[in-house]
Amino acid sequence: MTAAIGVKGHCAHCDITFELKPWQLNAIAIQEPFDCPYCERVLQLGCPRQLRQFQALSQWAVVRPGMVALTCVVLAVAMVAEWVGLISVIAQLNLSVLVLLTHFLVLRYVRYRQRMTLDLQVVSPALPIEQLARIACARLSQP
Ligand SMILES: [Zn+2]
Repeated sequence: MTAAIGVKGHCAHCDITFELKPWQLNAIAIQEPFDCPYCERVLQLGCPRQLRQFQALSQWAVVRPGMVALTCVVLAVAMVAEWVGLISVIAQLNLSVLVLLTHFLVLRYVRYRQRMTLDLQVVSPALPIEQLARIACARLSQP
């Protein structure tokens, strides 16, 4: 999930903010709890507002390749237009600079929108399967 580079998580228990790894981002996306890498408590994103914000990140991911394609097309069209004599060299240069400037401004904005810190709450872990199995075995072995 290259979409969410720069997303950080804040552990409510140990108060440490850390960069989220792709598998942790996946866990958050499917609302699956995961362990804090520092205090090993089970964490989950509890805030619905932040969850919506996080899910919207994937929309921003398509902006980058879209902008690259758009910039390339505009640059090519400007070059051809200058070549066939529709616009002057100065106009072509101006257009190219303008397009490149817009390109970098948009990418900067996307990067700014993608930078976020998720407040991760500690959740009490469900009883692990092994423990349940042990209880069941103990019950069954009783006379
Ligand atoms: Zn922690």
